[in-house]
Parts: sequence; structure tokens; C-alpha cells
Amino acid sequence: MNETDRVMILDVPLDIVDMEQAAGKLAELMRRDGCSIIVTPNSEIVVNAGKDTELKGIISTADLIIPDGIGLVYASKLLGFPLKERVTGIDFLYRALGLLEKEQKSVFLLGGRPQGKGALSVAETAAMRMKERFPGLRIAGIHHGYFNDEEELKIVEEINRSGADFLCVALGSPKQEKFMGRYRGELLVKAAIGVGGSLDVWAGTVKRAPKFFRDHGLEWLYRFVKQPARYKRIAALPKFMIKVLISR
Ligand code: UDP
Repeated sequence: MNETDRVMILDVPLDIVDMEQAAGKLAELMRRDGCSIIVTPNSEIVVNAGKDTELKGIISTADLIIPDGIGLVYASKLLGFPLKERVTGIDFLYRALGLLEKEQKSVFLLGGRPQGKGALSVAETAAMRMKERFPGLRIAGIHHGYFNDEEELKIVEEINRSGADFLCVALGSPKQEKFMGRYRGELLVKAAIGVGGSLDVWAGTVKRAPKFFRDHGLEWLYRFVKQPARYKRIAALPKFMIKVLISR
């Protein structure tokens, strides 16, 4: 993939990839030296990157920047460089897990709420579901996502000790991008991806929008009906489109 395969939206680069190309790129990254970083920005993250130079730097230097949001697809059309399709982080993670299973590689799951009394953590439940779906998948380790800055290095050591090939960082944005950006030099995994609330979806604590809403770019509407408290985040979408129009 070269520079011409990228589109700039509000000064943030995004790879013009469909699912097949993104999966092919992942296979290539898994063969490279060092820890590759994969980010899955949506329009909200792109707007935030404009106000957060650390976040923008991490996205801009990531090895694969997957456009996860219908707003980005519309914006790219307005700018005249249409993105091929929206590739959601959760769908891409599914592909990645299939690839890891096929290549007998292992994954470390980081993120989600810790266990309550007698209950499994979100990441533990997600791991169980992943094993049901991909029986040959090796889960090298699991850690919940509620830790302070002082604990970060211990977690990096735990990930490295686990021998995992792939790291799934589900801490929400920008925490997940910053974790990957800060520790990419120390991490021994071949690739790390930031995937927001994906472990919640695997664990069943959050439901994905039904297929109709996903197919018609209306996931935001479904989320709004289910969680009206997210209205501020949804209101960010028209603001984003206005910013893109002005930037033209
Ligand atoms: N999370 C976490 N640690 C934190 C804050 C959040 O592990 O310090 C988890 C949270 O439990 C949830 C995910 O990160 O599973 C963020 O979900 P959200 O839907 O907000 O992600 P986004 O919309 O940013 O993709």
C-alpha cells in the first residue's frame, strides 16, 4: 500500500481499503519486524485528533488506518476521494481472529470492565465466546481495562510474557491509541489494534445494531434509540460534516 491509497480528512490520514485489502495488509504486518499499529478511527476520533496532537501523531504513524464510520465514507465522497467502504473495527477483528486461528497465532485481550462478584470480566467472557467461534484460536492472556498509569508497564510486561502475537486493545478512544503509541517500542506482539467496545459485543454486554441499520449506515440511529445518553456523541456527526465542508 502506498501513500496514494490514503485520503486525508481534516488533516487525518485514512487508508482507502475494503475488508479484503485490510485483511491482506494485516497478514503482511504479521510478518514484519516490530509491533505494527492498527487504528480504527470514526468521525468522532478524527475530530478529536484535531484537538489532540498525541492522538493525531499516533493515527498518522499507524501502519493500517481503517475507516470505521459511515460519516468518514460520506466525507470522503464530498472531498472527491471516495473510501471504498466502511470497515468496522468489530468486523475487522472477526477477520483477524480467523486469520490468527488459521496461522496458529495467539491473541492477548486487553480492555473492558473487571469481573464483579463471582462473575467473569468482559474480556474473559469475550475470550470464551471467541473460543466457541474459533476453537483453534490461542488466547495467550487477558487483562481488564481499568488500570492507572503506574500499572501500565506491568501490563506491558504481562503481555510480553504471554508470548502473544497479536494484541487487542479495547479501552475506548483515545486511551487505546495512546496505550499502543506509548508502548509500541516495548511490545513484543507483531501487531496491536484499538477496537473500542468490541469486547463488550463479543461478551454480549452490548448488542450490535441489527443488520438493516448496519447495511444502511444507520448504526448511529440505533445507538441513539438504545442509549439516548449518547446524544452528545451522535450530535458530533453533523458538526463533523460541517467541518469537512468548510475544509473543502
Ligand atoms: N474501557 C476500558 N477502560 C477504560 C475506559 C473504557 O476498558 O478506562 C472500555 C469500556 O469498558 C468499553 C470500551 O472501553 O468496553 C469503550 O467502549 P466505547 O463504546 O465507549 O468505545 P468507542 O465508542 O470509543 O469505540
